[in-house]
Amino acid sequence: MKKIINNKQKQINDIVSVVKLSTLLLIGIILSKTFVKNNSAIWESSTFYILIILFIPLMLFVLVYLAWSFSVENKIKNKYRNIFNIIEINFFLIVFSAIIWVCGVNGSQYKILYLFIIITTTIQYGMKRGLIVSIISSLIILGMDIMVVPNAYLNDFFQDDLILVGIFILTAWPLGFYVKIEGEHIKRLEEQINIDGLTELYNHRYFCDTLIEKVKAGERNNKPVSMIFIDIDYFKQYNDTYGHQKGDYVLRKVAEIIKGNIREGDLSARYGGEEFAVILPDTNEKEALNLAEHLRERIENTYFEGEDSQPNGKITASMGVSVYPDKAKDDIELIKSADDALYRAKFINKNKVESYTSILDEIKSNIDEKDVELVTSIKTLISVINAKDKYTYGHVERVVIYSRLIAEKLQLSKRNKEILIYGAYMHDIGKINTRKEVLVKKMKLTDEEWEELKQHPANGAEIIKSVESLKEITPLIISHHERYDGKGYPNRLKGDEIPFLARILTVVDSFDAMTSNRPYNTRKSYEDGIQELERCSGTQFDPEIVKAFVEVVRNDIEVSDLNGMNRKYAN
Ligand code: GH3
Ligand code: MG
Ligand code: MG
Repeated sequence: MKKIINNKQKQINDIVSVVKLSTLLLIGIILSKTFVKNNSAIWESSTFYILIILFIPLMLFVLVYLAWSFSVENKIKNKYRNIFNIIEINFFLIVFSAIIWVCGVNGSQYKILYLFIIITTTIQYGMKRGLIVSIISSLIILGMDIMVVPNAYLNDFFQDDLILVGIFILTAWPLGFYVKIEGEHIKRLEEQINIDGLTELYNHRYFCDTLIEKVKAGERNNKPVSMIFIDIDYFKQYNDTYGHQKGDYVLRKVAEIIKGNIREGDLSARYGGEEFAVILPDTNEKEALNLAEHLRERIENTYFEGEDSQPNGKITASMGVSVYPDKAKDDIELIKSADDALYRAKFINKNKVESYTSILDEIKSNIDEKDVELVTSIKTLISVINAKDKYTYGHVERVVIYSRLIAEKLQLSKRNKEILIYGAYMHDIGKINTRKEVLVKKMKLTDEEWEELKQHPANGAEIIKSVESLKEITPLIISHHERYDGKGYPNRLKGDEIPFLARILTVVDSFDAMTSNRPYNTRKSYEDGIQELERCSGTQFDPEIVKAFVEVVRNDIEVSDLNGMNRKYAN
């Protein structure tokens, strides 16, 4: 829409410029006609000077004007457009007045010339400026009438010119009115196009455009820009139970709550189906978290018809918060990080606000300066693996979340907790050397392909080895496919020979593999996943760790996940 409006404005400006240039041409013709008529007198010094005085600025003006009118639209042009227009109007008024003065003053037929500048100004700048120009023009011609015949009892010219004044004003006024209502109409259309019909919040496209602007403004003013991503919990279930109309009502109501509880200057939008986003300019993470928590409570405490049959007995929403520039370097990262935070809020325990944490940034702040670059390249490796194997992305996130929870449960030391989490983050990094066909294959792997996949722990360890500060993570990576009974790979380690943290990672990694959709099998329910862990406890897995992890899943995920309903948010 903006493009269409800009294009329209450009076309109007172009045609108006052509009209003004043509007017200059007319002025040239009038002046030549006037002076050539008095040919003999043309070189008389006084006439000559008048010519010089009129033509030289006129030519200069034409040159500058040409350059200006047809130069490309840019910031400088926009900034000085107004000043230029005022100079332009004054110039035309002076030149027209001079011509009229030279060509018979109050008897001049050129008084009508003012209409050019009245019409073009009104079209370009609206009624107010158009009326001002018409009034000034009127005052000039009436002033001339009085000046030339000051003491006449009834000045005929003055009376005729009153009609002309009427024409000037009656041209500027309706034309200006038309320009005004057209402007308003366009504004309304523009608003409609940016608004979501159902919720009356801004729509996705407007949100993205505005976010770019707000982030740029944040950068310019050195101020943070925060974002809240909001997703209604179990909304599909509500729709399925009560139908889309009731669902739509919930969407409208939630939108109303969001709109009614944000501050002036914040911008709320419907990002997708049942997802909303709020941009908070000049807001740090803590303030954004507070606002998100407030919104979450308001939604939780609002009554919605039939909400008691929802898994948690209420309509609730989960929220993710992130902030530019601390946690995201541009608008795209800001959306992605807020979305990641939302993912975590959903995953651990819906009806929750989570802020974004970057494991990579955490790792970076804990390692030697010299290794920072290498660690940064690990992120690139992980993105490459994600691109090869879509499943990996959510998997790494979830394995990290589980690792944090079990580290708490087992009361690991701070350092061991860090090693476990970093190991969880990087455990599949060796898959960079595994072919995509093998990673995403739906059929059973051939012996050869299986051998290739089995290389990934050793490959991963090899990559990490080069980073001095991460050397404690290497054993986790190389051993995360060892089995407690010694039948794993690559080194067939058994029981306590396998590092403790690697044994934890094996349980966590396997549980997520079972309970999320993989290319080669469909996911198990959480309960089935737990049973499978227990079935393999003592053979594939360390029994103590299985015991602790099952408690984590039951307490921190499943039970808190709302009246014992099975979680739906996996993969
Ligand atoms: P979660 O708690 O994990 O967010 O689960 P969910 O069911 O809310 O999320 P999911 O993404 O599975 O489902 C989103 C649902 O939102 C699917 C669709 O029924 C509903 N939805 C999307 N757009 C609209 C809409 O315009 N009107 C209505 N009534 N429902 C919508
Ligand atoms: Mg959703
Ligand atoms: Mg949802």
